[in-house]
Amino acid sequence: MTIPFIDLKAQQKRIYSRITQNIEAVLAHGKYIMGPEIMDLEQRLAGYAGVKHAIACSSGTEALLMALMAYNVGPGDAIFTTPFTFVATAEVISLLGATPVFVDIEPDTFNINPDCLKEAINAVKTGDIQKHPLPKGFESLKPKGIISVDLFGQTADYDRINAMAKQEGLFVIEDAAQSYGAEYGGKKACSLSNIAATSFFPAKPLGCYGDAGMIFTDDEGLCDILRSIRVHGKGSEKYDNIRIGINGRCDTIQAAILLAKFDIFPEEIGLRQDVAGNYSGLLKDIDHIKVPFVKDGNLSAWAQYSIMSENKDAIMGALKKDGIPTAVYYPRPLHLQGAYAYLQYKNGDFPVSEKTSGSIFSLPMHPYLAGQDQERIVEVIKGVTC
Ligand SMILES: *Cc1c(COP(=O)(O)O)cnc(C)c1O
Repeated sequence: MTIPFIDLKAQQKRIYSRITQNIEAVLAHGKYIMGPEIMDLEQRLAGYAGVKHAIACSSGTEALLMALMAYNVGPGDAIFTTPFTFVATAEVISLLGATPVFVDIEPDTFNINPDCLKEAINAVKTGDIQKHPLPKGFESLKPKGIISVDLFGQTADYDRINAMAKQEGLFVIEDAAQSYGAEYGGKKACSLSNIAATSFFPAKPLGCYGDAGMIFTDDEGLCDILRSIRVHGKGSEKYDNIRIGINGRCDTIQAAILLAKFDIFPEEIGLRQDVAGNYSGLLKDIDHIKVPFVKDGNLSAWAQYSIMSENKDAIMGALKKDGIPTAVYYPRPLHLQGAYAYLQYKNGDFPVSEKTSGSIFSLPMHPYLAGQDQERIVEVIKGVTC
């Protein structure tokens, strides 16, 4: 019997009637664009995250793009981020004509390494490529902001990142596409920096049935700008255009679906802890496997349960033969992707990201994964000898 990588059906079964009721309510009122469900969702998700303002939008990518637009990011701006992430994190920087300055990750959390971040900022400020690998054209760049990624559901080191940003006059955007529901020192993900962006892509911890995302901020001024950018840079009314914006709205139907899913989301975050804890217990005695590390004070949203092994290909092959899917996030760091060849980074620039790409893979992970399925998965892994 095959095990799904993410079982969205199990969740749907629990709340099917609530989902259809919510969709039917939208069909009845007919406000498909910016209907009342949008504001309801924004309020509920902001409340849960402990943030003043939430701005629903069309995807996680758009959420990141709009956040950068709100800070007027453009050509000549250096935005620091990691190469070990989904391409969207860096893509939005390039779309605005700014330059991603990649910074290597911590080997245990896979999040941006604050020590390397400090070196990278100094290297850009002084134009000294000896201090840290820099992209082509670094001589004319000015540090402007940081996009830190909460990879696999665990938040980055915001105490250090925010302190550094404050000292250097940089903004921090939390790419929380994988971490809504996570915690950092008692605070919730999406509340940890100036602006946070999350995604409701179906496979994320809180997913809808299409594309959608949300932006969070405590800053009222930024919130106003983001709401304007979301609707083509509108001013006080629709056909008053005061800045360049986009169509970044979230569909009312997706908000209605998310409202039904959000009712059980806190419970699902708890179930994810149980599933992850069970995996780590079952895997702990296999000496060629490195299980995920969660820092003290952190609670992961477990978007992925990613393990490392030098024997990755053999294990993934054995699991596949047994009908168990796996995935690799991410097989090639961004500085080595064709799309970023123009920055002229080279192999060896970010050794931790490069090494991690070669040994990491993710096991099936969702709140409804049965203990006996996990045992079966681990039995197959145990059967692979190195
Ligand atoms: C999924 C994801 C995004 C993009 O979200 P979409 O909703 O798919 O546009 C951005 N950053 C990270 C880290 C992601 O995992």
